Amino acid sequence: ITQLYGPLNWFGNYYRVIQKNFVDMEKMLDLFKEPVEIDDPPEPKPLIVKGGEVVFDKVSFAYDPRRPVLEDVSFKAEPGSTIALVGPSGSGKSTILRLLFRFYDIQQGSISIDGVDIRDVRQKALRGSIGVVPQDTVLFNDTIKYNLLYGRPGASDHEVFVTAEAAQIHDRILSFPDGYETKVGERGLRLSGGEKQRVAIARTLLKNPAIILLDEATSALDTRSEAALQSALLTRSRTTIVIAHRLSTIVNADQILVLKEGRIVERGTHESLMRMRDGVYFDMWMKQLKDEQGLGGLASMTSMD
Ligand code: ATP
Repeated sequence: ITQLYGPLNWFGNYYRVIQKNFVDMEKMLDLFKEPVEIDDPPEPKPLIVKGGEVVFDKVSFAYDPRRPVLEDVSFKAEPGSTIALVGPSGSGKSTILRLLFRFYDIQQGSISIDGVDIRDVRQKALRGSIGVVPQDTVLFNDTIKYNLLYGRPGASDHEVFVTAEAAQIHDRILSFPDGYETKVGERGLRLSGGEKQRVAIARTLLKNPAIILLDEATSALDTRSEAALQSALLTRSRTTIVIAHRLSTIVNADQILVLKEGRIVERGTHESLMRMRDGVYFDMWMKQLKDEQGLGGLASMTSMD
């Protein structure tokens, strides 16, 4: 009987995992709101991600044909580099990440990873090579360990602990009533915004993808912990594309792309952009400094440098 039920049971579990993943995918970030149907190519090419080079070449895109959202966007993320996307609300930052995940097809131009157009590969392969750290992480109503293993279901306990430590959440988990077996989520232990983000980071570290998309939290973490966590993620062995809300966390990015109304209006390193005194980036900095001063946040800003 065990022999008979074994595989069925396995399938049952597997099916539940798929279902849960599906729900999570849909909820994942506001970033991935309302994904539309995208078909795999009839003869998919293999996607062998090596360095994780990302190229947007003259990309134009609109959710609604009457209203363009991205126009003629071109950039190249060198393997292992960090690219930061900044710009006012609605300028198209999240859309760039959604397009890289191929939740929508673009109307013009091309997007490629390590030289392969993302339309030519299976979506599963594409999404398997990219890790996402959303701003708002959805936790399953399951144990904290299950939630971490979601990054890579086959990982060993040791690997889970190591990555939790890197994401600075291991000690916290040990302080929970049942440690890694503690139930979390809506019906279990509620984690704070910052803790949830650490779980998302640990998951992504477990998955160990060549490309990471990071939607920086606006308020879950203070600037100092945010910088520490980002440095756990940022290594030269991965390409990182980060949507930055707080400019202080991206001063070391290799390239900052400043978006405005769907176009890249400025690009460069922090230093080069700050030299343009009449530039959009410079303005954003001045505004943010003023706001943080107003909120008494100057101390945390200056201690960053
Ligand atoms: P924020 O900083 O506020 O998150 P953003 O720069 O990430 O903004 P996007 O979310 O990329 O901006 O949105 C760019 C534009 O596309 C906005 O005008 C938005 O209203 C529009 N948009 C976003 N998602 C959709 C959608 N699913 N359908 C139609 N329009 C959308």
